[in-house]
Amino acid sequence: MRQFLYCSLLLFVLSWSSGEAKVTIEDIHLDKLEYISLIKRSGNYPLIQIYLMKYRPTTILFSSMLLVFLSIGCRFDKKMESAENQMRDATSIDREYSPEAIILGFFPPDGTRNPTALSQINTVKGPIDISELGVSLTHEHIMSNYGKEINKTSNYDSVQLFNQVIPYLKNLKSLGVNSIFDCTTEYFGRRVDLLKRISEATDIQIITNTGFYGAADDRYIPEFAYGASAKAISDLWIDEFKNGIQGTDIKPGFIKLAFDDGKPPSDIDKKLFEAGILTHLNTGLTLAVHTGSNREALESQMQLLKDNDIHPSAWIWTHANKFKDDIVLLDLAAKGAWISLDGVNQSNISEYIRRLNLFKQKKLLHKILLSHDGNGFPSGDPIRGFEVIFKGLIPEMLTNGFTEDDIHQILVRNPKEAFQMRIRKNDD
Ligand SMILES: [Zn+2]
Repeated sequence: MRQFLYCSLLLFVLSWSSGEAKVTIEDIHLDKLEYISLIKRSGNYPLIQIYLMKYRPTTILFSSMLLVFLSIGCRFDKKMESAENQMRDATSIDREYSPEAIILGFFPPDGTRNPTALSQINTVKGPIDISELGVSLTHEHIMSNYGKEINKTSNYDSVQLFNQVIPYLKNLKSLGVNSIFDCTTEYFGRRVDLLKRISEATDIQIITNTGFYGAADDRYIPEFAYGASAKAISDLWIDEFKNGIQGTDIKPGFIKLAFDDGKPPSDIDKKLFEAGILTHLNTGLTLAVHTGSNREALESQMQLLKDNDIHPSAWIWTHANKFKDDIVLLDLAAKGAWISLDGVNQSNISEYIRRLNLFKQKKLLHKILLSHDGNGFPSGDPIRGFEVIFKGLIPEMLTNGFTEDDIHQILVRNPKEAFQMRIRKNDD
């Protein structure tokens, strides 16, 4: 609006000066009486009136074009300004507490404020600037208890775990990996204290999550969640974001949820997703949701996002590689959702090349996330690898017409944008 006023003022001054400089009574053959009556009729702006009456088509055309260009410029400026604002430190916006911050969604409807700077992301070693994420694997498990009984704290043999995981991650680091998003939730084997020690030993940034894992026949959902409200569950997750996880100062960098494969979403699945929505609205954390090929889970989530006026870019379609209908993937990507093709292994490289080509043709590579869904210590078993992207897929991409910039887009720019803490409302 401010720029629009500047434009209008500029146009007015231009009109005024051009009229004043070029239009005289002689020019337009008015006699003095006509001129005086014209001044009376047009108040304080007689020269503009004269200017318009004289039908100077070229000048009017020039002014109109100027107005159009300035309007386009203003709209562009506004967009740039909005993007810059979203990148600004939330704490400084807090201090200013400007109406623009509310419009941009920094403050959720309930009046709470996002305490973490928007340009930062929480790692297990503390917040970093999001630009420091670098090459990121967005869906891996450093370790998990998958297959074992539900366990809030997860008792790993830490010596065995470190002996297995640390050399592997050090090797990944040498392949260029800077950051790993660990998708093991609480009750599923999440141990942030161990993640922190592994991160310190390997120099790989690890981002942990808040949320519950609702796949595997709901086996890893804690009993109390069935009787609790979505709000009560989200309060626990928001508390982890604000105060740290399990007595540590380690905070989550995203929300992890899961729907069971091959069955309609259950009440508990939907409730956990609603709790995820409330958590997003209070923290700006992105929702990474194991959805796979479950079309009903997909539709249910899209409806709940819509009902809560949340933009699809707040949501990552985890295990989207399992969904066979390319049209649906492309459609969701075009709407802004993140498509996580997170099952790369040596046997499916050609299928990944085919899909990535399709997204490239449709100019949607900027919505793709790549990962392996690997596991460094799956219930104490041998490593399920997470290095094929670097050893197999990327070389194959380069021989199939993908550029270094395409790869940088998928492994660096996309994670940075997908996990940027921001409350993403539909009207942003
Ligand atoms: Zn996983």
